[in-house]
Amino acid sequence: MVEKQQLAALISELSDLSLITDPGRLERFSRDFAWFSPILTEQLADKRADLVVRPNDETEIKRVIAACHRHRVPLTLRGSGTGNYGQCTPLEGGVVMDMSALNQVRWIEGGVARVQAGTRLVNIDKEARPKGWEMRLLPSTYRLATAGGFYCGGFGGVGSITYGSIGDPGNVLGVRALSLEAEPRELELRGREALDLYHAYGVNGIITEIEFALAPAYDWQEALLTFPDFMEAVRFCQTLGRASGVIKKLLTVLADPLPQMCGLEEQVPAGRTAVLCIVAKPSFDATRELCEQYGGAIALTQEHADVYGTAHSLIEHAWNHTTLHIFKRDKGITYLQSGFRPWENVEKVEQMYRHFGDEVMMHLEFLRADGALTCSGLQVVRYTDEQRLNAIIQFHRDHGVHIANPHVYTLEEGGKLEVDPRQLAMKRRLDPAGLLNPGKMRSWEEEAVA
Ligand SMILES: Cc1cc2nc3c(=O)[nH]c(=O)nc-3n(C[C@H](O)[C@H](O)[C@H](O)COP(=O)(O)OP(=O)(O)OC[C@H]3O[C@@H](n4cnc5c(N)ncnc54)[C@H](O)[C@@H]3O)c2cc1C
Repeated sequence: MVEKQQLAALISELSDLSLITDPGRLERFSRDFAWFSPILTEQLADKRADLVVRPNDETEIKRVIAACHRHRVPLTLRGSGTGNYGQCTPLEGGVVMDMSALNQVRWIEGGVARVQAGTRLVNIDKEARPKGWEMRLLPSTYRLATAGGFYCGGFGGVGSITYGSIGDPGNVLGVRALSLEAEPRELELRGREALDLYHAYGVNGIITEIEFALAPAYDWQEALLTFPDFMEAVRFCQTLGRASGVIKKLLTVLADPLPQMCGLEEQVPAGRTAVLCIVAKPSFDATRELCEQYGGAIALTQEHADVYGTAHSLIEHAWNHTTLHIFKRDKGITYLQSGFRPWENVEKVEQMYRHFGDEVMMHLEFLRADGALTCSGLQVVRYTDEQRLNAIIQFHRDHGVHIANPHVYTLEEGGKLEVDPRQLAMKRRLDPAGLLNPGKMRSWEEEAVA
């Protein structure tokens, strides 16, 4: 809890910056898409910032940091607030620092982009494409999501079928970070060291710039395919995913009835499974041939360049956008985030599909994990209660399917289910007073108590 005097002192010191104190806006800036989870919605309902600051440059950022340190006020970072497990919700109030004004692409050269943390991902692509490059990985929220938010809260998405996750070595080359201290230090972290801040929910350093390795920009073709049989669609994706000569950006499976639930009912007849794919144009003939081989049909094709950045791209129905569209129509559902092991992904998908039937509807995203082709699931679950949801999660875990639980808000419980000693060491180094969103990193709190 932040005391009134602490807050008043902070506001008076930062009064020349862009501040938000209006209760309605404080509420809005304390939320992300955690409402996807009925459990998080309840748990985070009363968590709110006392002040939002929107710095314009690094000098202002340092002033905010120093003031928070001086008055021992918690500081939580925010990009665009599209995270889906309350990552940017301040658990103990204090200041939310909105990074969106730091939105400059510093430079793009030789397949590398250096950008400020608040740069929207779509804008990196806009500048990179004319130079023959594009982002390797994009979340389906790329139109809003920031570079810093993606690195600290995201995982991958469009492009993961070729480039894996954003945390795979070589995808991000370095970050510039500030420490939360009386006099904030500036650090340029490269390679493995930069990864210690990856997916740490902003609790172990404040990122101001990121350097992304880019991909060659292709002319892409989007195709919506339909299959009479779910498992044939999965096998098609497995074969296409493994076809080294086919250049791919997206490969998504939506089992019946998901296409009907997420707004694709005009293109996908009831009873059929949909596959959403984006492949390089020269790879399209091979994709069509394979599709026919597995009994599929083409429902729609469109040029990616014509729809990129609009609601008409198939990206808008992939990754967690599928879930979003379904939520808009059906409040009785929730979701899972799962990972299948590469050597048994098809068998395990089939096992879970047959076991749960319509209670856990299969949405799969094909991707590379440690270089091997596999799939992750963003299964849509018909929600009854928390106990049943936990039983569903446990069943998956008991059968070797990893669940990154999207219904918990601490760093450790949501991800690897274990303490990352490197992330913890980075927190000791860059946030020794433990003021970056206290409560988020369970291992830090436990260490403080011990
Ligand atoms: C409909 C929907 C679809 C999605 N699809 C995907 C997807 O395909 N792939 C995917 O990976 N994710 C996905 N997400 C999650 C989220 O959209 C992405 O991770 C996105 O990149 C987050 O960016 P943001 O700017 O909104 O970050 P925010 O939500 O604002 O922040 C995310 C985390 O990063 C921290 N943070 C932000 N800026 C900084 C900084 N400068 N320094 C340190 N920490 C910082 C915040 O404190 C927070 O913990 C989806 C979410 C929704 C709701």
